[in-house]
Amino acid sequence: MATNAELFARAQQVIPGGVNSPVRSFRSVGGTPYFVDRAQGPYVWDVEGRRYIDYVQSYGPTILGHAHKAVIEAVAQAAAQGTSYGAPTEREVLLAETLCSRVPSMAWARLTSSGTEAAMSAIRLARGATGRNKVIKFAGCYHGHSDALLAAGGSGVANQGLADSAGVTPGAVADTVVVPYNQIPEVDETVAVVAVEPVAANMGVVAPEPGFLEGLREACDSAGALLLFDEVITGFRLAPGGATEWFGVEPDVWCFGKVVGGGLPIGVFGGRAEYMEHLAPLGGVYQAGTLSGNPLATAAGLATLEQLNADAYRRLTAIASRLADGMTQAAAAVGVDCVAPRVGSLLGVFFCEKAPANFCEAKAAAENGVYSRVFHRLLSDGVAFAPGPYEALFVSLAHTDEHIDTTIEAFTQALASEVDGG
Ligand SMILES: *Cc1c(COP(=O)(O)O)cnc(C)c1O
Repeated sequence: MATNAELFARAQQVIPGGVNSPVRSFRSVGGTPYFVDRAQGPYVWDVEGRRYIDYVQSYGPTILGHAHKAVIEAVAQAAAQGTSYGAPTEREVLLAETLCSRVPSMAWARLTSSGTEAAMSAIRLARGATGRNKVIKFAGCYHGHSDALLAAGGSGVANQGLADSAGVTPGAVADTVVVPYNQIPEVDETVAVVAVEPVAANMGVVAPEPGFLEGLREACDSAGALLLFDEVITGFRLAPGGATEWFGVEPDVWCFGKVVGGGLPIGVFGGRAEYMEHLAPLGGVYQAGTLSGNPLATAAGLATLEQLNADAYRRLTAIASRLADGMTQAAAAVGVDCVAPRVGSLLGVFFCEKAPANFCEAKAAAENGVYSRVFHRLLSDGVAFAPGPYEALFVSLAHTDEHIDTTIEAFTQALASEVDGG
């Protein structure tokens, strides 16, 4: 088989930057990306036969670990019966029922093929339902790559060192107001919707400070604006009812993705009935998709959600906290500044003294250069963190205490070299 370097060289001849999503390019950490041959449980193997304990996990979807038997079987069975019909199916109903029963106050859900589509559609719906134009978003929160939401988008945008994207017209973002995370913005009667990641996970992991989400709820209520929780990462990862259940704050509209598709392309947006009834064919807000509610994606999603019971969340949280504690203790032992912000099973790592509370602080911590060096040392030791400092560390139900302890050993070594300057 070809080597990573050979494949990357070929890829760069026919795919811009050699990748189909910018973070994968290793541009922010330097070096050549590994090309994945296969994956199983907590592991990925590259085309050169090297095995890594994987904390990328497709950036969240494979919460059961890679190639989980129940998911593989569900997808295989579904595929044998046809891959897309352009007509409704029972599994779409089952998935929407499952989602609406788990997320408090969500009455209706519509399936899309990506989180980007879900967020973009939720914004359109909020504007259509309120008859207002303005969208408030928080710097460092990512809501996919639709024009109106790309402003100060964190994640890949930040990893590429881009403030914003070229090709987005001033008109497209004229009604987008970007404000700092963990600060209640002024919400007036021109605002259609306030969009927020209830735990920010695309500028590293930044937790909401006590009162932040509650304050947003109040500000939206008094201005008649809608509150949108972008739960594409937190949904079905923090708890059965996502961040909504975890924090006990209920928005008006939601978007989901990642875990809901168990590794197949999916997105979901949902809301209270009074807003969702504005959506075509019931109302005047148009939204559609050839592959929306895809039979393979719904099969994978249902098989994934079925495994996510109370015990699964306890295990995920235990694994995440073992990793967070292990990393911070290892760092303290060698004298490297390190924090591992964690909310339930969602965690991140920053090499700084104090957990960042907003994008400004996250940026200062992410861009001090430590992450790239630690990343490469871990990778050569068989541990794959995300190739950029603005991503979360994704644990799965396939990660055991042993995998975590091996990771912490490698992390300790990586930090020791940091101190030696090695
Ligand atoms: C990943 C992500 C999206 C976009 O989802 P895609 O499936 O990549 O389009 C939107 N919002 C958040 C919070 C995300 O993490």
